[in-house]
Amino acid sequence: MEEENVEISEIFGSKVFNDATQKAHLSHQTYKKLHEIAEKGGRLTKELADEVASAMKDWALANGAAYYAHWFQPLTGVTSEKHNAFLSPQTDGRALAKFSGSELIQGETDGSSFPNGGLRATFEARGYTIWDPASPAFIRNGILCIPTAMMSYTTEALDKRVPLLRSQVALKKQVKRLLSHFGKEPQHVTINVGPEQEFFIILEDDFAKRPDLINCGRTLFGKKPIKGQQLSEHYYGTIRPAVDRFMKEANEKLWELGVPIITKHSEVAPCQHEMAPMYEKGPIAIDHNLLTMSEIKEIAGRHGLTCLLHEKPFDYINGSGKHNNWSLSADGKNLLDPSDTPEENLLFLLVLTCVIAAVDRHQDLLRASIASAANDQRLGADEAPPAIISMFLGDDLYKIVEALLAGEKYTSSDTELLDAGVPMLADAVLGTTDRNRTSPFAFTGNKFEFRMPGSQENLSSCNTVLNTAVAEAFDLCSTEIEKKIAKAESVNGKMSARDKRRAASRFAVAWMKRTLRKHKRILFNGNGYSAAWEKEAKKRGLLNLKTTADALPYLIKEENVLFFNKYHVLDEAEIVARYVAYAEYYASTLSIEASCMIYMTRHYYLPAIQQCSFDIARSVEKKKGLKVAATAETALLKKTTAALASISKAADTLEQLNDNALNKRTPKTLNDAYKNEVLPAMKKLRHEVDAMEEIVGDRYWPVPGYNKLLHFVKASPEKIQIVNVKSDTSY
Ligand code: ADP
Ligand code: MG
Repeated sequence: MEEENVEISEIFGSKVFNDATQKAHLSHQTYKKLHEIAEKGGRLTKELADEVASAMKDWALANGAAYYAHWFQPLTGVTSEKHNAFLSPQTDGRALAKFSGSELIQGETDGSSFPNGGLRATFEARGYTIWDPASPAFIRNGILCIPTAMMSYTTEALDKRVPLLRSQVALKKQVKRLLSHFGKEPQHVTINVGPEQEFFIILEDDFAKRPDLINCGRTLFGKKPIKGQQLSEHYYGTIRPAVDRFMKEANEKLWELGVPIITKHSEVAPCQHEMAPMYEKGPIAIDHNLLTMSEIKEIAGRHGLTCLLHEKPFDYINGSGKHNNWSLSADGKNLLDPSDTPEENLLFLLVLTCVIAAVDRHQDLLRASIASAANDQRLGADEAPPAIISMFLGDDLYKIVEALLAGEKYTSSDTELLDAGVPMLADAVLGTTDRNRTSPFAFTGNKFEFRMPGSQENLSSCNTVLNTAVAEAFDLCSTEIEKKIAKAESVNGKMSARDKRRAASRFAVAWMKRTLRKHKRILFNGNGYSAAWEKEAKKRGLLNLKTTADALPYLIKEENVLFFNKYHVLDEAEIVARYVAYAEYYASTLSIEASCMIYMTRHYYLPAIQQCSFDIARSVEKKKGLKVAATAETALLKKTTAALASISKAADTLEQLNDNALNKRTPKTLNDAYKNEVLPAMKKLRHEVDAMEEIVGDRYWPVPGYNKLLHFVKASPEKIQIVNVKSDTSY
């Protein structure tokens, strides 16, 4: 056991230019200055950048990396990188290894080749990648990767990191402002994120046989498997040896990259698994999650396996999500941790209220932030939260909120509130171990868990919305406190600091009650999967944006543009660009799926059904000659013949509708055409082909079906590369 620990501590972060490495490779002054800039911002001088770049290069070369890359998050949802060698040719034909400060700080890309929603036309294509010193550089596959933000020549954000960083600035500022009213002046405010990553693992051999998995990441056809997840045996079940070896190797590679993966287990659906890290500062946790996705895909291949990150690779069983655990801390103290100190309990309730208000006010943006064609397949199916956003507090906390609103036990005096509140709250916390898996946004002891994001999602977008929304609620509360104190002072004269704090508590309690009353509709402890909730939610006026096509237009609503503008997170052009880019992405995803279905139908399924039908016809004919009744065959012949006609027709119709949809000119008409015309046609075609999979023999069927995909035995030995999993001594 001890030996394993030594190994982990040796490999953890060994490929990261982290704090310890920086300390070892930089002068004390440069190290200190770099930290200051990473924490508070500020200008990087050329000298400082040169010293850091040179140290990074030496460290990278010593660790086998001959290249560097600016690593960034365009609007595609994956990460991008362009590799440059540390190479400077000399006049005498030799070359030196070189990496300057300016190459570290800034790179240039072709901004127009990434989705940019019209922000970058091809003739003005310049985009810049700018080093984010708060996220450590790392070596991956022999390349020094430098986390960067991507902006246009005219300083518009072209990526997902810039708005996230801006939202953090806004939230940190508002947290400090609100806490100052209670005599607290934290040096560091941190937004913590812990993303749980779900995924499927299947055999690479099976994957390679299905054009839908290859092109779309999900099966577009497939009849119901004999065995799904009915027996609930897979959740936390033993991990298949092949998969376990893959997970161990993935863990170790991720540990080297400083990703603190601590949990791995089997999930509910067959072949489904989860990995979760220890939470970290938001942008770093998100970088690490993006790295996790890249690594698990790559490493699975070395084990003869394929990792599917799609939200809904298979119908009839659960899809995959990525729970976004979120909390706020000030100088290391979690503001969502209900402690037993009265003063902090007031703060806890206040922070809780702010999050409640934030989620209710911005349901639309939260929904839009995780909207994708793939996630639409998962949300609202009987496995993931519905498309309606609501919040679960747990019974005890909910009662506290209700008591607070009733105002009997809790008067507006802070001491009374806290005296009465503390013991209850402490009890509540102990009792809040119940879970509500059906809730999209649940309080889980000392953090909120946003469960709507899909497994492929880059969590920057939803955290940008969440941070900004909570910043706004803090802002509203502070503004009220400040106004009321100013008013009281104008009547009674200046207050002492102590009196101000007491008054702030009183005003905060009043604000809290009013705010809770206004936003209580978002609280729901019941079953989010039930039809009754959909009705009830409608009564409460909560949004139910079922598809991406319904959700995306909310991005550009005037009030939302003003909201993002007010907190300097996105300006109007940047928001419109995102709307256009995401709408195009939605349409392109569905267009590729439709094309893939048509291709598979014409090149795989129809020939297979035809062959089967032909063989049946021959059998019928032969039996006729022998004067033997062929009742079953004749019925099958009729069915397959009819299916051939209706499947070809369904494919032709889908082709026509896809072509029509592609001609739509505005994001809204484009998306509506896919939602209303193309998707139903896809569904119809699938239904017809799947019905044939029920009756056409396995030997005709051209692709491995669900029974094979979901219940594989083991990877073919020749596919498995020799891997050295350090923490696995058993093989
Ligand atoms: P479960 O599946 O039971 O929800 P897991 O252990 O799989 O729990 O994942 C919980 C995630 O929440 C982990 O990534 C963990 O680090 C993270 N987490 C725990 N505490 C906090 C916190 N205060 N803020 C943000 N994330 C947290
Ligand atoms: Mg978990």
